[in-house]
Amino acid sequence: MLKRGFTTLAIIKKNPLNQAIWGIDLGGTKVEGVILESITSGVPIVRTRVDTEASQGYDHVVGQIARLISEMERQSGLKPRAIGIGTPGVLDPTLHTLKNSNTTVLNGKPVQKDLEDRLQIPVVLANDANCFALAEAHWGAPKQKVPAARMVFGIIMGTGVGGGIVMDGKIWNGRHGIAGEWGHNFLDESGGPCYCGKTGCVETIISGPSTERYYAGLTGDHIKLKEIVTRYAEGSDPAATKTIDRLCHFFGKGVSVITNMLDPDVIVVGGGVGNIDALYSKGLEALGQFIFNNGVEVPLLKPSLGDSAGVFGAAALVAE
Ligand SMILES: [Zn+2]
Repeated sequence: MLKRGFTTLAIIKKNPLNQAIWGIDLGGTKVEGVILESITSGVPIVRTRVDTEASQGYDHVVGQIARLISEMERQSGLKPRAIGIGTPGVLDPTLHTLKNSNTTVLNGKPVQKDLEDRLQIPVVLANDANCFALAEAHWGAPKQKVPAARMVFGIIMGTGVGGGIVMDGKIWNGRHGIAGEWGHNFLDESGGPCYCGKTGCVETIISGPSTERYYAGLTGDHIKLKEIVTRYAEGSDPAATKTIDRLCHFFGKGVSVITNMLDPDVIVVGGGVGNIDALYSKGLEALGQFIFNNGVEVPLLKPSLGDSAGVFGAAALVAE
């Protein structure tokens, strides 16, 4: 019998080898957990979730994670050796606290340490862009289409712009823990001030809200990105055309920096903005104009794991 409050998506009763990896995707409304059979197979043994109930405060959220893990132990008959946790926001590289999380009760809190104290096992925390990149590298579109890739760059373009570098199947975190955070590279003054304290960051130009803001600046109309994209596809609205052309131009310019610096084997583009088809035609052309090479060879892929990438990538954080 399942306990109240948990929504269980899958339980496969079997007797797995002791290679199981455990991941938690900590979101603003749900905490989702998965146990994967192994890093190689990526097959879920248990997948279940519980409400975050963030309004009840930080300690309660930590308690919800612990309860979820107990429930996963009960359902699987297994014990975790370590837990990977993915969450939106940025880990302060010095303080090891979370910032810029949309689950605001987590901001400024040492989530990793508090969970390790409570669970008495190692906890590895990473932001959602890193988890996305890791999951796609192991089981998603890059794995299917470029199986020999050693370096995968994962981009998330949505409300914010983030990225993650996966090298030989592991996240490359860097000295400050910010490797891949290209959303706050300087791109163009026209983006204006960014919440990070600088101006003209990639995020201020090619995120969803920035794109909507640019359109509104042209027309005085505050419409959703989806509508702008529809009008662009219809060719019915010159402002929509200008907005998406600009997005593609700056996408190519922004990604050219990634390509010149890292030259990844494949780039996978997730998030709501990443879904816009023009990025893969006009955006790719723009990339060709800005990289230090005659033409673009790096495959630019749409992701294939959908909403599962966060929790699967969290599990991959603790693969041996
Ligand atoms: Zn910024």
